[in-house]
Amino acid sequence: MPTPPSPTTISIPDLRAAVHGTVIAPDDPGYDEARTVFIGGIDRRPAVIVRVADATDVGTVIGLARETGLDLAVRSGGHSSVGHCVVEGGIVLDLADMKALDIDVEGRTAWAETGLTAAEFSTAAWSHGLAIGFGDTGSVGIGGITTGGGVGYLVRKFGLTIDDLLAAEVVTADGELLRVDADHHRDLFWAIRGGGGNFGVATRFQYRLREIPAFVGGMLMLPATAEVVAGFIAAAEAAPEGLSTIANVMPCPPMPFVAEEHHGKLIILALLAHAGETEAAGQEALAPFRDLAPPLADMLKPMPYPEIYPPDDESYHPLAITKTMFVEQIDLPVAKTIIEHLEASDAAMRVAQLRVLGGAMARVPADATAFAHRGSRIMVNVATFYEGPDDKGRRTAWVNGLASALQQDDYGAYVNFLGDEGEDRIRAAYPGSTWDRLAEIKARYDPTNLFRLNQNIPPAGGAQGADR
Ligand SMILES: Cc1cc2nc3c(=O)[nH]c(=O)nc-3n(C[C@H](O)[C@H](O)[C@H](O)COP(=O)(O)OP(=O)(O)OC[C@H]3O[C@@H](n4cnc5c(N)ncnc54)[C@H](O)[C@@H]3O)c2cc1C
Repeated sequence: MPTPPSPTTISIPDLRAAVHGTVIAPDDPGYDEARTVFIGGIDRRPAVIVRVADATDVGTVIGLARETGLDLAVRSGGHSSVGHCVVEGGIVLDLADMKALDIDVEGRTAWAETGLTAAEFSTAAWSHGLAIGFGDTGSVGIGGITTGGGVGYLVRKFGLTIDDLLAAEVVTADGELLRVDADHHRDLFWAIRGGGGNFGVATRFQYRLREIPAFVGGMLMLPATAEVVAGFIAAAEAAPEGLSTIANVMPCPPMPFVAEEHHGKLIILALLAHAGETEAAGQEALAPFRDLAPPLADMLKPMPYPEIYPPDDESYHPLAITKTMFVEQIDLPVAKTIIEHLEASDAAMRVAQLRVLGGAMARVPADATAFAHRGSRIMVNVATFYEGPDDKGRRTAWVNGLASALQQDDYGAYVNFLGDEGEDRIRAAYPGSTWDRLAEIKARYDPTNLFRLNQNIPPAGGAQGADR
């Protein structure tokens, strides 16, 4: 095992005395657990992990990074697909202990500390019949998903997570705690809605909450032929906006409730979510999907909204290669391409995840927030698991091959699903004037690029500290 980096520039006792939260050093019990992130294959050993307790601690840790010059990783739910939330030899600012949630039921708003996960927030809000959309996985942190945009089960009904963001409290690179909203630091408020962790550490978000009188949804499993895949997309596009769908075209896992003869065969593992006034409206919206083919499993039902999140398994750390993109259409020829590529791989898990967008998300002007892909029609995430260095090359080639075969005219990318893919792809996440505007705001709030462990937008005019 490699020797942990020695925190020569950090006095752990002084740091412990300076913060209200918990300081975890390399020889402390719990260090290995604290540096573990969701995605597998990442084994970085930070000099120190600080589980901050409040915004003052956040300022202290940012100050420490400034003074020592050590790299600073910011962590909320730890689900960064490239492990931006942990850093070799540097400082991890971990918000996981900041979970205060203050729900104003009458006013339909909530102030939430950013250590909460999507499921924790959603479960608490739903106890009042209220909700907002995050993503498809409950253990994702609200810190990362909100700052990137947030595309989830309610995207067509209510838009992105950021479309329900009313205000935030952000500690900037100089340690100052700012309230940002439509009237205060409007430029920063624009930037943190899609610009990721580039501009500061959000300690609290204020969200608008939505009422959902009847939620109907869950998992529907269909056999995946090209006809069924194309039919699914057509049905999702024709569906009322109350319905958002996620279709995972993939080999059938050995699930006990599916007959063994289907295991390993291509299926659509679909998650459907209808938020509406009545259960009957939900059932009506779901019916066309049930009619596409005899379902292999049908778990669609009225349910509390947070139940749509699959159960979490904390020991699950997949080795995965992913590529995100947008496409305009998935007709029969495109569906055939997807099926052919999936059939050509023998990876234990490979998937083309298809998400029809539109609805409320598309009604927000493209320049209203730093998420500029309002007109994008369908998001596709191609992913595969790999076993280790021996098969990583060919699994990566498979992902790139399917992504190239699917490329149409929309060259955009959603920042929260980007891998470690270089500046061109980060620019694809921030097309046109979005990039320039973000770089200019970055230059004002973080001129030395202190917040650089992210899908980085360097400050306009060049960063003094970018290469440290
Ligand atoms: C299994 C899985 C499913 C996913 N599904 C979806 C989905 O359906 N929809 C979707 O939109 N996204 C989805 N994502 C992507 C997810 O939104 C991003 O990976 C997001 O960054 C994770 O947030 P986190 O707080 O858990 O991650 P972390 O790794 O803790 O943070 C990631 C980065 O976000 C920034 N950040 C985090 N917290 C803060 C904060 N408080 N202030 C400022 N910056 C911060 C930092 O730059 C940090 O490095 C999924 C990811 C995974 C792994």
